Amino acid sequence: MISQELSIADIIHKQRTYFNTGQTKDINFRLEQLKILKQAVTEHKDAIINALKADLNKPEFESYATEIGVIQEISYAIKHIKTWTKPKKAPVSLQLFPASARIYPEPLGVVLIIGPWNYPFSLIISPLVGAIAAGNCAILKPSELAPNTSHLLSEMIKQYFEPAYITVIEGGVQTSQQLLAEKFDHIFFTGGTAVGKIIMEAAAKNLTPVTLELGGKSPCIVDFDINIEHTARRITWGKFLNAGQSCIAPDYLLVDKKIKENFLDEIQKTLQEFYGDNPARSSDYARIINKKHFDRLSNFLKEGEIRIGGETNPSELYIAPTVLEDISSTATVMQEEIFGPILPVIEYTDITEAIDLIKSKPKPLALYLFSKNKNFQQKILKETSSGGVCLNDTMKHYSVSSLPFGGVGDSGIGKYHGKSSFDTFSHYKSVFHNSFLLDLKLLYAPYKDKLSILKRVIG
Ligand code: NAD
Repeated sequence: MISQELSIADIIHKQRTYFNTGQTKDINFRLEQLKILKQAVTEHKDAIINALKADLNKPEFESYATEIGVIQEISYAIKHIKTWTKPKKAPVSLQLFPASARIYPEPLGVVLIIGPWNYPFSLIISPLVGAIAAGNCAILKPSELAPNTSHLLSEMIKQYFEPAYITVIEGGVQTSQQLLAEKFDHIFFTGGTAVGKIIMEAAAKNLTPVTLELGGKSPCIVDFDINIEHTARRITWGKFLNAGQSCIAPDYLLVDKKIKENFLDEIQKTLQEFYGDNPARSSDYARIINKKHFDRLSNFLKEGEIRIGGETNPSELYIAPTVLEDISSTATVMQEEIFGPILPVIEYTDITEAIDLIKSKPKPLALYLFSKNKNFQQKILKETSSGGVCLNDTMKHYSVSSLPFGGVGDSGIGKYHGKSSFDTFSHYKSVFHNSFLLDLKLLYAPYKDKLSILKRVIG
């Protein structure tokens, strides 16, 4: 067992020693550990709900759907691990007959997983699923800004896993930086773009590969050709879930002028349906993580006309679901990722205005388009770039294990979920296998008379 007094370097050394025993490479061992992880989450459901309630006032339903729901990701890995770990045959050209080739996935070694505070449980456990399935040891660093969940993760992992295999190191920026000073075989980071740059810089010093799951401003386009009721419900859900503190929450709306008024009335109706007359009294609406973010978000409220909501209560870190209109394109709320329950609405008369606006900003993590028009859908897919896209919905692409999830450009590097998580934490080793059956002398010196044959083969 590793005691609390061990330094970070000692902990990594213990994990490296354990990794070198080869035990984590055994497929049955990995399968067993995934089952143990599933059991750990299952047995801690109440504790997870309580910790998230204390950190974010997260409603039980949302904790179940978006954090305990990570069980589905574990089950998916359990179901597919045998297929993922099988070496794959690769074709070899006739010139190399009778040789064969195979690709072997192998674990990377000791990996570091750093998490954010918004989904503080699942965004540590979900990458861990990939790390275990691929046969690695892992050090987990949850966010200090969700201290109850961080502590729960530490206790839970200690209870089910040997620290030489998987361990949690709790702490803030300083702890994170101490970890980053060490050599890992992979760093998987979920957090903001600014910190992502710090992570990549630190990793570069040790030539450690990184996955960066970052954020950004995810636009949501609303065409006139929609089912208005379904659209309003799906956007209201995606935006105000977890009080807007989701990396793939629709950040701002681009709405066709023709339907804007009707559509915003429908959003208002939906908000009333979801959270009642006063969302502050709804048990289904979360709070802002801390005072710093509350103040940052409160300042955004001054940057436009409040169409819906706008109420705040600092003592409860409450900000009502808010819709903002008449925002200048230079306003901070249109520059920074919002990451809160404030939805700026911009109208367009021609879709090229909306596309130009999206393209003038860094590539987003997600892009949402509501339209029945297939040509319009294709146009947006062709002309914009984003980590992922949801047509006629928000956020749901995240929950599909067979879809790789990640950003592009400023919204991230690398992908995970399902097989992509396994790939992220694996090295694909190419193996060429010759036989002693034949040994054509074409490649060997002396080359005299052989060049013409080579020229004919290569062309
Ligand atoms: P953050 O970048 O502030 O912190 C993330 C982690 O990095 C924490 O564990 C923190 O301790 C550590 N950290 C912070 N500053 C550091 C520094 N200077 N050096 C080293 N480590 C440091 O992010 P956050 O505020 O916790 O989360 C919000 C951000 O995360 C948003 O931008 C959101 O879009 C993004 N996010 C992305 C995804 C995704 O899947 N792509 C998911 C959730 C959140």
